Amino acid sequence: MLSRVLKATSIKSSARQVMRFNSTIIKLSSTTTSFPTGHTNPNDEPYLTPSFINNQFIKSETKEWFDIHDPATNNVVSKVPQSTESELDDAIASAHAAFPSWRDTSVIKRQGIAFNFASLLKENRDRIASVIVLEQGKTFVDAQGDVTRGLQVAEAACNITNDLKGETLEVSTDMETKMIREPLGVVASICPFNFPAMVPLWSLPLILVTGNTAVVKPSERVPGAAMIICELAAKAGVPPGVINIVHGKHATVNKLIEDPRIQAVTFVGGDKAGKYIYEKGTALGKRVQANLGAKNHLVVLPDAPKQQFINALNGAAFGAAGQRCMAISVLVTVGKTKEWIKDIIKDAKQLKTGSGFDKSSDLGPLINPESLAKAEQIIEDSVKQGATLELDGRGYRPDDSKFSKGNFLAPTIISGVEPGMRCYDEEIFAPVLSVVNVDTIDEAIELINANRYGNGVSLFTSSGGFAQYFTKRIDVGQVGINVPIPVPLPMFSFTGSRGSFLGDLNFYGKSGITFLTKPKTITSAWKVNTITTGDEILKPSTSMPVQQ
Ligand code: NAD
Repeated sequence: MLSRVLKATSIKSSARQVMRFNSTIIKLSSTTTSFPTGHTNPNDEPYLTPSFINNQFIKSETKEWFDIHDPATNNVVSKVPQSTESELDDAIASAHAAFPSWRDTSVIKRQGIAFNFASLLKENRDRIASVIVLEQGKTFVDAQGDVTRGLQVAEAACNITNDLKGETLEVSTDMETKMIREPLGVVASICPFNFPAMVPLWSLPLILVTGNTAVVKPSERVPGAAMIICELAAKAGVPPGVINIVHGKHATVNKLIEDPRIQAVTFVGGDKAGKYIYEKGTALGKRVQANLGAKNHLVVLPDAPKQQFINALNGAAFGAAGQRCMAISVLVTVGKTKEWIKDIIKDAKQLKTGSGFDKSSDLGPLINPESLAKAEQIIEDSVKQGATLELDGRGYRPDDSKFSKGNFLAPTIISGVEPGMRCYDEEIFAPVLSVVNVDTIDEAIELINANRYGNGVSLFTSSGGFAQYFTKRIDVGQVGINVPIPVPLPMFSFTGSRGSFLGDLNFYGKSGITFLTKPKTITSAWKVNTITTGDEILKPSTSMPVQQ
């Protein structure tokens, strides 16, 4: 009888694996050893980004394609589809069908695949970095860092055999309760443009090792890195259907939030999309975690090591062209440190803005002409509002005419900034540093705690006492002491707070695993003396059981 029950279950789940696919199956254009190392030419044929469903790259049947421009040249390098209704449905169905057997795959086996995956990511780091430079614009070294920070999450996920251990207690004589954590089902991951590898990898490795399946939507502006990542996952041994990639804009997002087969949504991006996805997703009963925008302050006290501070500040404000959610966009000079601005400017001028493939570049272009125009407008408006433009990076062009159409903005510094000015109130997401001067550490704390965001903050000082004082009073989720970008490694979680996060459970680390799993308790009684003829065990008890 027992074997008949088991057999029926397995036939039912394998029947669900039968999917309809008439689409054209293709391969990625790059390999581990062969990938682009420079910009394309204006007349080069753009690459058509495929979807990834059931471990196959599928050419979309869509009629709607979005151009992906190289931000350094504005040449069209590739195109991304608005996945069709049936492609979206296939991807979700595929993840849904793969879930039961992936959930039932032993954690040791999933861990083994995670080890393979991490090793393949390492082997393909430069290949992924090169597509990031081409589609997103950041420098090659910075793009390698983008991959490495994601790889570290994949490596931390290999510890799942420890992290997923449950709890057991003998709650009463012959009775024990154990608590285990089970996967949720299909998880959707919606990603932004600024970290094409790291952000998909913030959630994907943990989705896999916890036994969930995934439908990922990379940013329609930078899908290339995510495509390579899923090719590597399949090569590592992830079974068909466990990871799927779809593309597009709002229509894709709406399908992912609304489809009842999707149990949870992990989102990273701007405030508008994040709030919409969080509100709609939670209203439909899904778990949602949403990392949003930021305005990160760096406070410098007069006892700070000056040159160490200036190097850290310029790297954190202008690196990645300021397009990091943890970039320092506001410097708060306390007391006489306002006099250090001329040294900050001197060093910022030395940073070279240019092509990400040029090894001598320190920062690349902005993602698109709209972002450049927005940043330039904010600079202009802030000056009209009374701020002083100390260093103006507008109109910058690299020497090579090949980059004359690129979205370049060189480091820009604005002083005399106050709340109420556009450059302080808005997330610019560009290499623009706003400088606010205050007289005391308490004024700095008050300013930062009044800002709506809580992603990251940094204090530079040589005083342990001031560091303690600041840490206890500041209301920001990630604090750096003499560290400009305090994003913890993935044995901890990414703990942005207040306006920078919606949800209860943060990305990766213990919170990430809790987000991706649900607890189940099992209480068992195994008495050796239950087969007796005593009256007491034949009689039902109707009172509330209280094990003692
Ligand atoms: P975005 O919000 O424009 O896009 C993010 C994703 O949401 C994309 O996949 C996009 O297709 C989708 N999307 C965009 N608008 C939408 C809408 N109205 N409805 C539904 N879906 C929509 O963000 P971006 O410009 O790609 O990324 C930059 C933003 O991301 C910045 O605000 C940055 O601070 C934030 N970010 C935050 C973190 C963090 O951890 N807090 C990390 C990286 C980026």
